[in-house]
Amino acid sequence: MLFKELGLSDAVLEGVTAMGYSEPTAIQLRSIPAILDGTDLIGSAQTGTGKTAAFALPILSKLGAHGGLRCLILEPTRELAAQVDTACRDYARFTDLKVGVVYGGVGYGKQREDLEAGIDVLAATPGRLLDHISQGAIDLSTIEYLVLDEMDRMLDMGFLPDVRRIVEHCTRKGRQTMLFSATMPPQIETMTAWVLKDPAVIEIGMRQSPAESVTHALYPVSRDQKFDLLQVLLERSNYDSVLVFSRTKHGADHIAKELNKLKHAVVVLHSNRTQNERIEALDGFKAGRYEVMVATDIASRGLDIAGVTHVVNFDVPQHPEDYVHRIGRTGRAQAVGEAYTLYTAEEVTHIQAIERFIGAKIPRIKIEGFNYIYTALFQEEDRIARIGSGVRSGKGTSFGIKKRRR
Ligand code: AMP
Repeated sequence: MLFKELGLSDAVLEGVTAMGYSEPTAIQLRSIPAILDGTDLIGSAQTGTGKTAAFALPILSKLGAHGGLRCLILEPTRELAAQVDTACRDYARFTDLKVGVVYGGVGYGKQREDLEAGIDVLAATPGRLLDHISQGAIDLSTIEYLVLDEMDRMLDMGFLPDVRRIVEHCTRKGRQTMLFSATMPPQIETMTAWVLKDPAVIEIGMRQSPAESVTHALYPVSRDQKFDLLQVLLERSNYDSVLVFSRTKHGADHIAKELNKLKHAVVVLHSNRTQNERIEALDGFKAGRYEVMVATDIASRGLDIAGVTHVVNFDVPQHPEDYVHRIGRTGRAQAVGEAYTLYTAEEVTHIQAIERFIGAKIPRIKIEGFNYIYTALFQEEDRIARIGSGVRSGKGTSFGIKKRRR
């Protein structure tokens, strides 16, 4: 099936062609006709499946020409809002539609100017959007298309009351609403019944499984040796760009500092950094100025960082969903990625929870030549590690000579 058979407008199709997309992805194939038809939608798809285009392309097609604020896309984080803004601008390149974005952490001036100049599609984070509404800078009563993206993340971040207030401002009759969430906890289920009318439910692949193009493996190690193991993994991996996840901001700073000492081109992304620092970090990482980005979970959901070849969980994610989200940062769209998770004996229960969640056993790998120091607690996992190494050896396919150094 080709994009041009889906009923998108000519101008939007031109944008798609300019992006170099040849065929629609599974979620696009199913969502685009439904949204063009005017149906409300609940979508659950793995990250990196082309979700943004799945809702943006039909909405932009239906909007047609410039005519005032009619589409609102809510995102949980600034980075996601900025990313959706960029994607929509790309897709709308051959239309005269105006796309804008509002999020916190930066001044109001530029955002107000953009709003006053008139936009058709607005990407926003909840807090800043409500500020603009209370200041009279935004009126949502004209919204015809409402997209609630990454709702499970909104819930985690405590944004549900804000989202409710925002939906209440979207008073126009006949509004079409699309809600995306990887998981469906009861609070979101309730919201769904309230916000959506006879929605089509589109679920792509197994909700809980990581993207298929990612090879993932576990690396048991004692706490004291985690950093050494990370270093060895980086040295042996044939990586272009690596995203390293740390549980804490302090941990992220520490890892970055140590990697920096080892002459890796590294940058940190977490919420203690200013908005400008965060933009610089992301842009620099995307542009290849940094090979390694160390991040807390803020960066793990939905961020589209093309070309991330490796993800390393320096700490095991506390929630199994986060494992899937984090490793979804690599192997996006058609690319193939690798995901390594380092874990200590203290983190074994989290590993078991992840394996139950994804319904599969993840191979354990011991790195040959690494001087492991084991604690007694560790012996059982060591035994599993030896069995696991039969699945995929320590000299597995991903290890080559490290490519670049600063
Ligand atoms: P998303 O899941 O929306 O974050 O998209 C993931 C990545 O896939 C982005 O880099 C998109 O530009 C890319 N993408 C989206 N749709 C397609 C497609 N039909 N063909 C190739 N790449 C796509």
